[in-house]
Amino acid sequence: MRTVYLNGDYLPETEAKVSIFDRGFVMGDGVYEVTSVLDGKLIDFAGHLARLQRSLDALEMKNPLSESDWLEVHRQLVARNGVTEGMVYLQVTRGNPGDRDFAYPAADVEPTVVLYTQSKPGLADNPAAKTGLRVITVAEQRWARRDIKTVQLLYPSMAKMMAKKAHVDDAWFVEDGFVTEGTSNNAYIVKGNKIITRALSHDLLHGITRAAVLRFARDAQMEVEERNFTVDEAKAADEAFITSASAFVLPVVEIDGVALGTGKPGKVAGRLREIYLDEMRKAAI
Ligand code: PMP
Repeated sequence: MRTVYLNGDYLPETEAKVSIFDRGFVMGDGVYEVTSVLDGKLIDFAGHLARLQRSLDALEMKNPLSESDWLEVHRQLVARNGVTEGMVYLQVTRGNPGDRDFAYPAADVEPTVVLYTQSKPGLADNPAAKTGLRVITVAEQRWARRDIKTVQLLYPSMAKMMAKKAHVDDAWFVEDGFVTEGTSNNAYIVKGNKIITRALSHDLLHGITRAAVLRFARDAQMEVEERNFTVDEAKAADEAFITSASAFVLPVVEIDGVALGTGKPGKVAGRLREIYLDEMRKAAI
């Protein structure tokens, strides 16, 4: 049985209980982070902590733990559960005000802090890196502050189900003709030597993997253009790919039934995946 963390205690997963009045449960009033573990170490931990702070600030929630305490809890859970490859899930909600009310509760209501591990042997050896992903496009119907990493994930779940029913791997959201991002990842196309991905704004999550991958791409003298791209432009691209903390970099080979380029995973995606995994393993803590 897993050991999980709840509000200062390490507990067997069956003993970790949260109130029915918790605002995470009643209102989706909470934020989260997912940090990958490779070789038993945390990947880009500083990036995830920095985004956690941004999400908390946007919702006027205090950060319940210091940076060193966050690191200690992550490391304890990885060690106690013997995780060598997988993820650590972290969630902070606005806590339990004792009743249901739309207004934020008084500042002395303590946030709820939950962390648990998910062991995924073979995480870095994903067969999709060789086969590529097939995606469909779906209408963007999430709220307008997608830069805040909230636990309010119903529409992304619905979109995943649309992809499942269409017998493909994932869905990309489209707003005003332009791709915003994937259900749980950032989206990119490649035209010639140019990597094109939407610029950061409230319209999409500021992926921690995105930041690292674009940095590595620029370091490797690849051209990066941060701008909107349309579905038609994506279908006509040479290749496409997605990034996320647990998928790293994965090629996309088909959009709405249209094969991209050769129909095989692209060179740019393959190279970026390799660089990302190499560099991030070296920097893992
Ligand atoms: N966009 C969305 C909507 C996501 O849910 C995620 C994954 N959390 C990402 C992008 C990728 O972000 P990251 O690289 O930080 O995992």
